[in-house]
Formats: sequence, C-alpha cells, structure tokens
Amino acid sequence: MRRWLRDVWDGLYTMLVGMRITWRHLFNENITLQYPSERWTLPKRSRMRLFMKYEDCIGCGQCVRACPVNCISLVADKRPAGSAPIYAANGQPIKLDVKVFDIDMSLCCYCNLCTYPCPTECIYMTPDYEFATTDLTEHLYHFAKKDAVFLTVNPKPPAPKPEAPPAPPAPQAPPAPAGA
Ligand code: SF4
Ligand code: SF4
Repeated sequence: MRRWLRDVWDGLYTMLVGMRITWRHLFNENITLQYPSERWTLPKRSRMRLFMKYEDCIGCGQCVRACPVNCISLVADKRPAGSAPIYAANGQPIKLDVKVFDIDMSLCCYCNLCTYPCPTECIYMTPDYEFATTDLTEHLYHFAKKDAVFLTVNPKPPAPKPEAPPAPPAPQAPPAPAGA
C-alpha cells in the first residue's frame, strides 16, 4: 500500500513538474498568430518573391552574373538596326531585345545580390511570401513579354551642354610713340 501511494505521488509530481512551462504560458500573452486570418507585419527590407519589371530591363546581365546559384536565365539579342529608340524608366536606352528572362524561385536563396547591380532597379524583392506550391515547376517565373509597351520618349533626357563662353577680345596694338 505504501509503495502504491508513493508511485501515485511520483506520477502526480512528475506531471506537475512537466506541465510547469505549460501552466506559465496559460497566463502569458499569446505569441502565436492564427495564420492565415492573422499575419505578421513584415520588416521593411524583407526578402520575399522576386519581381522584374520587363519594360525597364536593358538586358545587361549584371543580375545573372551576381546570382550565386545561377537561377536567372537571360537571352538577349541586339535590337535590329534602325529600330525606334526605347528607354527604361530611368532614361537608360534599351539597346537589347530581351527574349527570355526567367527566375527559378525554387533555386533562389533570397540573398538579394541580383538587385544591387541592376542599373535600372527593375529587379527587386516584393513583400509577397505566400506562393507555396506542390509543383516546383510553378516556381519558374517567365518575365519576358511579347506585348510589352516601352517608353519611346526618354523620360530623363540628358541636360543640354552649357554654351561655350564668348571668346576674349583680341589684344589691341599699343599706340605709336609721338613724333615717330
Ligand atoms: S536573390 Fe540571390 S539567389 Fe535569388 S535570384 Fe537573386 S541573386 Fe539569385
Ligand atoms: S541587371 Fe537589371 S537591367 Fe540588367 S539584365 Fe538584370 S534585370 Fe535587366
């Protein structure tokens, strides 16, 4: 009997000790969120899904070279000679025809390195993190568009060159000495 009582006490005691943290959290403020009805406010510079604004891409390939995991594929050719000039939003002329611009987000490590060298800032991380899928091929994003509308007028034309200052007057000959 004594042994039985001791076993019961041991069982109760270990359960109470084991539940100590649970008891404490019963009276604390909740730190979990009821996702998806509740969501965290993301920090300002969160790194989530990449986006590339095709109309501003000049096809320079700097993002491709910066990517440590080679998950950006770019195919670009020279635009045909004589085609009308087109520009990115920051005024950079677009001289290449970007035929393929794919990002495989299933390989991306979200390092953000591709965004820093972009001369037109057209590739950037968005705050969108809800793009889970069971099919990895859905993470291959194609950004090249056939129906893209480009700027045909330079939104930031270069400032006109300042006019050359007027030439200084030619030096005059000294007056001839009197009686010469
Ligand atoms: S975030 Fe990093 S890994 Fe992802 S595409 Fe850009 S450079 Fe590559
Ligand atoms: S760095 Fe920018 S402009 Fe150059 S290819 Fe990449 S996205 Fe296009």
